[in-house]
Amino acid sequence: MARIRRNDTVFVRTGKDVGKKGKVLRMSPKEGRILVEGVNVVKKHMRPTRDNPKGGIVTVERPVQMSNVMLVCPRCSKPTRIGMKHLTDGTKKRICKKCQEII
Ligand SMILES: [Zn+2]
Repeated sequence: MARIRRNDTVFVRTGKDVGKKGKVLRMSPKEGRILVEGVNVVKKHMRPTRDNPKGGIVTVERPVQMSNVMLVCPRCSKPTRIGMKHLTDGTKKRICKKCQEII
């Protein structure tokens, strides 16, 4: 069960972007990697194409290991661990281990 989802805000714990926060753009659960906006940005030299007629240098995000990020709780806005809560109607919800709110 993926604990981090698309559009979550995550905090980078390690690597060159340590301390940065960004929005999750894409998940690759199989590889355990996620793409985070503004994190692990690399410059790429592009040949001119139809989409990008000038070519040149573009910046793209590379996926980071999911274990290198923590979810930022939207309630208390702190990087936190995620817990799971079973509700009485049988659904499972994520909770923030810091403030115990459902997120
Ligand atoms: Zn919280």
